[in-house]
Amino acid sequence: MAQGVQIRSGRRLPITIAVLIFMLMVAFHHYAARTRAHREISAETYLNNAGQQLQQAFTQTHALLSYLQELTNQNPDIDQKTFQHMATLWLAQHEFPALRVMQLAKDGVVSHIHPLAGNEASKGHELLNDPARRKEARAAYFGFRTVTTPVVNLRQGGQGIIHRMSIRLPGSSEPWGLAIVVQDWERLRELSGFNHRESDFPLMIRGRSERSEPWSRAFVGDDAGFDDPHIRVQEINVPGGQWQLGVRISRLPTGFYLIPLLIAGNILVLIALFLLRDSFKEQDWPVPVVTAGTLLVVVAVFTSLFLMLHRAENRRYLAKWSTINQHRITAILNGHADFTRMLALQRSYGELSREVFRRKGREYVRENPELINFTWVDADHVIQEVSPRAGNEQILGLRIELEEPRRASRLARELGSGVYTRPFPAIQGGNSFEYWVPVFDRIQRFQGLVVAVYSMDKLMSRLQNEEEATDLNIALVDAQGNPLTGTYLPHARPDTSYSRRLVPPGHGLSLVLSNKTQGMDREVLVMAILGAGLVLLLFTFSYRLQRSRRLLSRQNQTLAHTKTRLEEEKERIHTTLNALHEGVITLNPQYGVEAVNTAALELLEQKEVLGRPIFQVMGFTNSQGGSLTPTLEAALGQARKYKDIQNAATQITAFRGDHIFHCTIHPLFRASLKTRGFVLIFHDVTQTLMREAQLEKKASRDPLTQCLNRQGFQGKYQALMTLGDPGDVHSLAYLDLDKFKIVNDTAGHAAGDRLLVELSRQIRHILRNSDLLVRMGGDEFVILLPGCRREDAQPLLEKVRQQIREFAFVHEDQVFYVGASLGGVEFTAASTIQSALEEADKACYQAKAKGRDCIVWAESRPCDVGVEYPE
Ligand code: GH3
Ligand code: MG
Repeated sequence: MAQGVQIRSGRRLPITIAVLIFMLMVAFHHYAARTRAHREISAETYLNNAGQQLQQAFTQTHALLSYLQELTNQNPDIDQKTFQHMATLWLAQHEFPALRVMQLAKDGVVSHIHPLAGNEASKGHELLNDPARRKEARAAYFGFRTVTTPVVNLRQGGQGIIHRMSIRLPGSSEPWGLAIVVQDWERLRELSGFNHRESDFPLMIRGRSERSEPWSRAFVGDDAGFDDPHIRVQEINVPGGQWQLGVRISRLPTGFYLIPLLIAGNILVLIALFLLRDSFKEQDWPVPVVTAGTLLVVVAVFTSLFLMLHRAENRRYLAKWSTINQHRITAILNGHADFTRMLALQRSYGELSREVFRRKGREYVRENPELINFTWVDADHVIQEVSPRAGNEQILGLRIELEEPRRASRLARELGSGVYTRPFPAIQGGNSFEYWVPVFDRIQRFQGLVVAVYSMDKLMSRLQNEEEATDLNIALVDAQGNPLTGTYLPHARPDTSYSRRLVPPGHGLSLVLSNKTQGMDREVLVMAILGAGLVLLLFTFSYRLQRSRRLLSRQNQTLAHTKTRLEEEKERIHTTLNALHEGVITLNPQYGVEAVNTAALELLEQKEVLGRPIFQVMGFTNSQGGSLTPTLEAALGQARKYKDIQNAATQITAFRGDHIFHCTIHPLFRASLKTRGFVLIFHDVTQTLMREAQLEKKASRDPLTQCLNRQGFQGKYQALMTLGDPGDVHSLAYLDLDKFKIVNDTAGHAAGDRLLVELSRQIRHILRNSDLLVRMGGDEFVILLPGCRREDAQPLLEKVRQQIREFAFVHEDQVFYVGASLGGVEFTAASTIQSALEEADKACYQAKAKGRDCIVWAESRPCDVGVEYPE
């Protein structure tokens, strides 16, 4: 079934991770197995090679020991000179590079030494009583056997293997003495290729003197290493027993684990971050951490690889140049020793005059500046001659008193061969050493010595000058590791310095080569700092980028939200604006139209107005029918001056034909209070104005007679008064119909109304256009005759009275006559209308009282000043 093999998406991730981890483990296992196999092969090759080389060296040692025994057997009274000669011959026939010294010790006291140079101090050494070496010496001497003492510190400096073989003369039951061969351990290691500085395999060596004996404690490497199941061992024969060499291969180098661990760690972090990605969704750091972490791993891997490779390369480089320099200095010293011996020989044959000595010495020193001089000392240790003289005059005639030269000269005389001193401070300054050669005459009488004096500093500078590897320092150090010449770095690490013991002049002098700069460390440090800086930079950059991205996306969301809201708002405003009856136009500061609503287009009777100047768009006129532009410009200019938006509006009225428009201008402001533009709101007010006028008219007229009512009279009166002069005299009459009630009562109210309408119409006919007829209520009217004095008013009022009296009102078959009583008054604008009306009313009352149908004038005359003007 297809369903059976489907993997649910929730399980896909763990399965992927499991597969990934499995693949990683397989890859790592494969890598480790290959490395281990490779290491096993190289370890075995290395072990075989070391074993072979050592075996070869020890076979040769055995041969040398046998030769020494043979030599003694044939000539038990062999002297130092013959021994030296025989030893030189043997060594010329057999290559024996690791030899430090070979000795014969007659009765256990060192009697013969080769080479003598550098080992002079051993002469006369009582081996059987030496507290340090007594045990082995006695074991060999009295046990009649060969004893090999592995890796001991030698008196002359450095480490060596001492082989002691007891010598018994044929037919003797007593030992004659010991044959001793000392091998240079450092050189042996070098030859066998297991110098620890050049190999990362730990080599262990232990030994035993007989097959039946248990193995000794390891004298090279870790003793417990032999119990390791991953050890490879090889046995070799040494002159005094067997050695077992072991190489442990279980351990993989540190870098082997470090790099995959770093990579695996990084992958795990990546997986963890991937798994927890939901919880980190809102975090800014995971991506930068992963990026920086990956770079960190890359930097670390590259740096360590680089460092490892460089260190290995540097070690090989130092070893190579150490060997080259060692050979070079040996060649130089041997050459000078030959020349010194030649001088001594010439002198002993009497062939070397002072003059020739000086000349030869001078020339030789000039060519070999590491030599300070050649000195000719007599048998009493008084300096007889020095060559060159220049710079050395101060020692002429001096007696040698310094300890080292005295010791060397004594020994040279005694041994009859050249002897090197230990380093000592020279009179000429700096550290020096000397080579003393004794001079004997033909009958072996001691004549004195020829001395070659070396400056150690100059010797080192010659090496340094001839050195092709100019990035290395060369220095000489004594057996205790103290520097004797200038440029030695005493605290140089093993991987940046390399030392080689010098055979001549011996005394534990070593040549040390070191890197001039601890540059690699500094470079790696710089690389690491740069790398760390880069990582930090990347992290910061990536972090900021991440944060900005998140921020930006948030802002985008807000922006999108705001945009939608704004669009909705805009739509609403648009709809609202278009729903308005008012025209709305938005202007930019240059008075160009920016926006317009439908109502505005209709009111303007325009179709395209956007972008056009408002003055072209507004086709209105001013009240005089002229162009509206100046008015509009002034209003806009005024609006521009407003700083307070609350009150910011100017208003103008515009006209087109019969239409009147009200226009309000509001300025638009920015935060800086600079005008951003304007909003113009305008609408047609014609209809409104007309309606208002009608309403006003209605309110001021009596609906029955269409005469002005009290309210209308008030307005009209004020308007009239403002037109005229305050000193003008006007007349006013109060009129009350006589016996009107009868009409009402008899003919009905409607008939009364008709009578009122008819009479008021007739009165208006009599009055002038400028006069006012006001119905005050009921059958009471007021007649205002503006600018009319009593003389002129009287006949007019009289006419009115007559007209009313003569008017016959017919209702159905009935005829009614009414009359009118009038009270007149003369007044000016100085008095109030109320007081005029009151007086007229009083006068009317008097007319009634007089019998009706007459006119009575109020007695008072208008006063000119002092009274309030009506408002
Ligand atoms: P006099 O001669 O003293 O003035 O007496 P008169 O009959 O005219 O009565 P008066 O002036 O005292 O009263 C006026 C009457 O007018 C009272 C009222 O019935 C009547 N009247 C008031 N208003 C109207 C109106 O609007 N229509 C009609 N038909 N009658 C009105
Ligand atoms: Mg009346």
